Amino acid sequence: MGQDGRIEQGAAGWRGLVQWLRHVHRADYLVAKANDFRLFTRVSLLITGVFLCTTVIWDHAIDPVNARHAIGLRLIESLALFVWLAASWNDIRAPLARIAAVCMPLVVSLTFILVLSRLEHGAEYGIGGFLYFFIFMPFLLVGQSIRFAVSILGLISVFPMVVAPLGVSAGLDWGIYNAYVWMCFVPVVGIQLLCEYLYWRVSVYRGYVERLVVTDELTGLANRRRFFIESERILETHRRSQRRLSLLFIDIDHFKRINDTYGHVVGDAALCHVAEAIAQDMRGIDLMARYGGEEFLVLMPETSHRAALIAAERIRCAVRDKSFDAGLEDGRALQITVSIGVASDRPVADQTPQIDTLIQNADAAMYRAKQAGRDAVRGAADLSEPGAAKTR
Ligand code: GH3
Ligand code: MG
Ligand code: MG
Repeated sequence: MGQDGRIEQGAAGWRGLVQWLRHVHRADYLVAKANDFRLFTRVSLLITGVFLCTTVIWDHAIDPVNARHAIGLRLIESLALFVWLAASWNDIRAPLARIAAVCMPLVVSLTFILVLSRLEHGAEYGIGGFLYFFIFMPFLLVGQSIRFAVSILGLISVFPMVVAPLGVSAGLDWGIYNAYVWMCFVPVVGIQLLCEYLYWRVSVYRGYVERLVVTDELTGLANRRRFFIESERILETHRRSQRRLSLLFIDIDHFKRINDTYGHVVGDAALCHVAEAIAQDMRGIDLMARYGGEEFLVLMPETSHRAALIAAERIRCAVRDKSFDAGLEDGRALQITVSIGVASDRPVADQTPQIDTLIQNADAAMYRAKQAGRDAVRGAADLSEPGAAKTR
């Protein structure tokens, strides 16, 4: 399964199915699914709880004399659903919610058997009641993992036969019971799988769109939107960790000339070339983004001003030394250079630095690098130490 959920080429048939089943049990997928199905599950549990209350009408239709003896059991049945609802209110996959998802259907099954044993001809009429269970269960369990949901369906199917030898039996005909229940079990599992497939398709497209929205189409780097979203998180962590943080503002020199001389296609290729050269030097924790046309930002957590100047210098040399094959007829490679401005921030307690200020300072330093003849690095004054200018 690819990162975006696509089944890789060749992974068809059983292998594809196994990969898909693995994908739909991944922790991140299950967390997202549980969030998406929270409200749906709440409403389904509520509807089922109310429905179970109304089954006293059915009891009365079967046996008007004894129906009142079953009212208490019907209330317990209904209550079980409300307990399940309360346990899964915040998170349908929380341990307590999952315990409720296992136990409460069994409580309902048990009380239903007891109801049938109290009604005249209960066992004959009641067999259809087990099928009702199967109508509701896919809705109640769709937010859970498919493995968990199918296990519970299996459990409630065999449960009446397990408790029968213990004396909890309504005198059901097991031949008819098994015919009814297992004929229902198979299509219900099929429906559950179909629901999973639908949700998976939607989650794949959603992931694709989400990536599209925060990715720069040309270079594949984070775009401005993602930079601002992620930088918020990094700056907040930075404030709490009391560590240093730096920002590089990288601008390609005389980029317009490349466009004007060789055309925009070459210009685009040059942008990708520079993005690659910069990315080579990045650590996993650095946030690199295309900020504008030929401008890149690199937010470097846990990096002092001095260390950031060294990193910027490395990037400048890497871009200049990595020759760019623009596919020119004479086979000549183009040399591209960048000017880099560096701004840093020392965390101040209870004060989260502003990304706008960092960008402004790094931008100003970058312009000084341009003024100094380009292909250069300049540092801004350290934001939290106004007197201690570290400008080179
Ligand atoms: P300086 O050294 O002062 O930065 O000069 P410059 O030519 O690099 O800067 P200027 O701002 O004058 O020009 C930037 C150019 O970048 C202008 C614009 O056409 C080009 N540009 C912006 N986005 C893209 C893009 O996606 N692809 C291509 N090929 N060109 C782009
Ligand atoms: Mg520019
Ligand atoms: Mg430029």
